[in-house]
Amino acid sequence: MRRVGAILKAIFDSSDDVWFFVGPDYNVIFFNQKAFTNGKVLHGKELKEGDSILEYARDTKNNIDTTFISRFEKALNGEIVKEEQHIEYGSTSLWFQSKYIPVYEFETLIGVSITVSDITKEKNLEIEQAKAQEEIQKLLKRREQFLSIVSHELRTPITTLRASLQLLNKGLSNHPLESLLQKSNNSLGKLNNIIEDLLTITKVKDGHLTLNKSYITISDVVNDCCEHIRTSGNYKIITEGDLDLEVYADPLRIDQVLVNLINNAIKYAPKSFDVIVRIERVENTAKVSIIDKGPGIAEDNVAHLFQRYYQVESNGYQQSGLGLGLYISAEIIKRHEGKIGVESTLGIGSTFWFTLPLSDS
Ligand code: ADP
Repeated sequence: MRRVGAILKAIFDSSDDVWFFVGPDYNVIFFNQKAFTNGKVLHGKELKEGDSILEYARDTKNNIDTTFISRFEKALNGEIVKEEQHIEYGSTSLWFQSKYIPVYEFETLIGVSITVSDITKEKNLEIEQAKAQEEIQKLLKRREQFLSIVSHELRTPITTLRASLQLLNKGLSNHPLESLLQKSNNSLGKLNNIIEDLLTITKVKDGHLTLNKSYITISDVVNDCCEHIRTSGNYKIITEGDLDLEVYADPLRIDQVLVNLINNAIKYAPKSFDVIVRIERVENTAKVSIIDKGPGIAEDNVAHLFQRYYQVESNGYQQSGLGLGLYISAEIIKRHEGKIGVESTLGIGSTFWFTLPLSDS
């Protein structure tokens, strides 16, 4: 028994935590080396067995620490108490975690085990991390405000430019400069898509993404979108399936989703010259799949694709986007009460799909 006692004493003495075992009469029964040292340094007392814990429970102004007493008394009433406490000694700021655990022998309370751990390092790290997080949030907010202002400011000149190019287009039919004009139109189209995405993100964030729904034939929206891809001559957009299928949706927003998904197929699967858009009816919804035979996406990345600003690193292809296209598409589809997803196999290709309700119900 003595040997066990010696071993236990050695274990408790080697701890960096303060430990006491205090009887119901508030008298200290056991304590470890750290409790003794702390008592001397912080309270100027050489702690002895049988001393009242109240002698030890003094705050920095040498007043009895009432919170300590109330926690101890809670434990005497059978409660396990865990608390964090911030103490300032002059310019030193310390954090402690105390645990008060009632100890029983045959259902009779024989005392309370009190452990006090110095958690200053962990706490300071936590505080620093919280501050850094706050700073990041502030910067993100500023970035969003900046993007919102810039995209609004860009919209008007782009609309003017578009109208002028359309007029020029009419005047320069069969002119040697027609192909240049076509290129300008395509670039302007791309620019417009980026600005549209940036404006949409602000609306999504502010909860102002309104929908103007009507009955639309999906294949018509597919045929009308992505003019820049068709006129480039390199890629074919092949629409297949139920070409008459109608949905109840906002045509402009669905155009935006299709543009994003078809653009991605070209951007990230540039060697897949055919992009298939399959339209099919699945129960009460229309399912639209955009299929490419590109490099595919690793499983680890798939789960994050629809998150804001997420981009797959080092996929070897052009990284010209903002990591917003899929996030915005998902938000638009969600607002339509549809679903969006992807099936992808490395080396085989990707199928991005979304569903839309067929009717207004
Ligand atoms: P971005 O605007 O950067 O293109 P998106 O949200 O549209 O952002 O896409 C997110 C990421 O998903 C891209 O960085 C890209 O790596 C990956 N991705 C999207 N579509 C495809 C695809 N068809 N094939 C392979 N990777 C894709």
